Amino acid sequence: MCGVIGYYSDERDGFADIVNGLFQMQHRGQDACGVAVSDGRRLRLHKGIGYVREVFGHRPSDDFAGRLGCGHVRYPTQGGNRPENTQPHMVTTLDGGILALCSNGDIVNYWGIREWLEARGVDFEGSNDGEVLAKYIAWLHVSEGMPLVRAIRRLQDDIRGAYSAVLVTRERLFAFRDPYGVRPLSFGTDGKDWIIASETPALDIARMDFVDEVGPGEIITWDEEGMHRLPHPDIIAARRGRVDTAHCIFEHIYFSRPDSKAFGHLAYDVRKRIGAWLAETDDVEADVVVPVPDSSNAVALGYAQASGLPFEIGLIRNHYVGRTFISPEQSRRDEGVRLKFNPVREVFEGKRVVLVDDSIVRGTTSRKLARMVRGAGASEIHMRVGSPITAHSCFYGIDTPSRQELIGSRMTLDEIREHITADTLRYTTVEGLKSCVDRPEGFCFACFDGKYPIAVAEEKRMELVEAGT
Ligand code: AMP
Repeated sequence: MCGVIGYYSDERDGFADIVNGLFQMQHRGQDACGVAVSDGRRLRLHKGIGYVREVFGHRPSDDFAGRLGCGHVRYPTQGGNRPENTQPHMVTTLDGGILALCSNGDIVNYWGIREWLEARGVDFEGSNDGEVLAKYIAWLHVSEGMPLVRAIRRLQDDIRGAYSAVLVTRERLFAFRDPYGVRPLSFGTDGKDWIIASETPALDIARMDFVDEVGPGEIITWDEEGMHRLPHPDIIAARRGRVDTAHCIFEHIYFSRPDSKAFGHLAYDVRKRIGAWLAETDDVEADVVVPVPDSSNAVALGYAQASGLPFEIGLIRNHYVGRTFISPEQSRRDEGVRLKFNPVREVFEGKRVVLVDDSIVRGTTSRKLARMVRGAGASEIHMRVGSPITAHSCFYGIDTPSRQELIGSRMTLDEIREHITADTLRYTTVEGLKSCVDRPEGFCFACFDGKYPIAVAEEKRMELVEAGT
């Protein structure tokens, strides 16, 4: 998972807006970040391993100004956390940088495209899918003389998977999405300048008004002539029922900020509706509703409002610990849970608690939390989960572990309940989740129901199996 941003102005330097936007999207990727800018004549790049404030605490150099550019925060799904896998990826020729690209998603025929390019003499520095996107477009543009819009269209036909991408040249900015629109990408303006971003808080911080989402399969360009929208011809046909979208429902469950609008919904609203659904279909007797902060706050609030039970903040989160999931080893993840949450004994003492979390992936967090909450005096723990059982891996950009590591693919509901030591356990059903969004047929639920909307090439499956992911 990652976050991308693009900026275009006819005159104003956008470096600060790009960096502030990346900072608003830090939760989408904490491992590395980068920015590419152009002043209209020269394309420059600065990127590094670390948080936005570490890599961009200072402007890279005085001449790092640009009236157009793109930026990225990285959370690796394809390729390890090495400098050569950081984004944006810049392609240079003898006369300097010709384009820089950053993308959010994961492509499923990575090896097929990479080998095709290697057979034509293209070298690869790392193993990140963004590099394949950048080099495929550059190859079609430089070696085949294709205009960039045609090269991107060709990419959309040949490369399968999820990509919400921003591309910058010395004079133009491009934003485009895969035809299924798996990952979010929105754009806004203050009437003069433009920002394109994975999440809308990156527009808010720059005081840009939301205009629209980049459509599935759409290409949008910005240059001195203004903005041009080029919808995908197949998507136009889709309105007649041929191709559909596959928006990632997990963006609304966990990944996006609650103040993000994506796929036509505010994540906060979807989460509250999930909480209300859980409450309306529940008959448990309890005293208090407590969220596992922060991602399940709105779900727990929705539950409390619909059930009439009091909402309490019983777990205090230390905001200086990264997401526990990110720690690669189990032992460090265990420790991470205790570093991250501390219980408020006065909230739990003698209470029957509805403990709400957004998802159970490996089961580590819930088990540790249940022990902690019981240790703080709770008499009963009723675990409620704001998503269905996570039983399948994601091939489109969410870093879900291998199926063997998913507790939901190995155990029955009652075994999971026993493992996490809850008195009762209930998940949201797929049907229940569907009732929380408009037009559910336009969403991807593959991590819950195993129905993959984009065929996953065999080579990708093998690669993931070998890597144990
Ligand atoms: P666990 O069950 O211990 O593997 O972790 C579940 C917790 O991790 C949930 O409470 C979520 O808040 C969080 N989580 C779920 N999916 C992801 C993901 N793809 N990346 C990072 N954290 C996640």
